[in-house]
Amino acid sequence: MDGVVLVLNQNYEPLNVCNLPRAFRMVFGERAEVLEYDHQSIRTPRAEYRAPAVIRLQHQIHRPRPRVKLTRREVFARDGHTCQYCGRKGVELTLDHVVPRHRGGSDTWDNLVTACKACNHRKGSKLLDEARLRLARRPFEPRCDVYSVFTPYLRDDRNESWRSYLFLGH
Ligand SMILES: [Zn+2]
Repeated sequence: MDGVVLVLNQNYEPLNVCNLPRAFRMVFGERAEVLEYDHQSIRTPRAEYRAPAVIRLQHQIHRPRPRVKLTRREVFARDGHTCQYCGRKGVELTLDHVVPRHRGGSDTWDNLVTACKACNHRKGSKLLDEARLRLARRPFEPRCDVYSVFTPYLRDDRNESWRSYLFLGH
């Protein structure tokens, strides 16, 4: 019994991947329903079962939203390695607090931006208005790409039926 099964939450959101024995246990325990079958069947002394490829939980599981860790690297990546004040690229970059720390600004996604050294210096401990600087766009928390967990499985033809569930609403 090899092969993997895509597990969807009750609301059809992809949750995780499990192996076949676990998927069978969930289906027979009435904790999940089968949405798609695999091409293989599993034979037991008494019966033959079609293997599931995609199952859906009967009850919604609440789990915290996966988040991108706040690091220099991730802030630079979010901002496309571009100074958010002057738009320069390919220069030495620093992290700038939009509201300086000693004026109540915190280390959060919406208060940290990528800045070149010159803009960072010009801004210093001032607020945007005081420094006469404008941001290219409002800083935000990037969305975690949960689909990157599932997409490698699509290289296996047997998991082809996952595709329509992974990209629902995409
Ligand atoms: Zn700059």
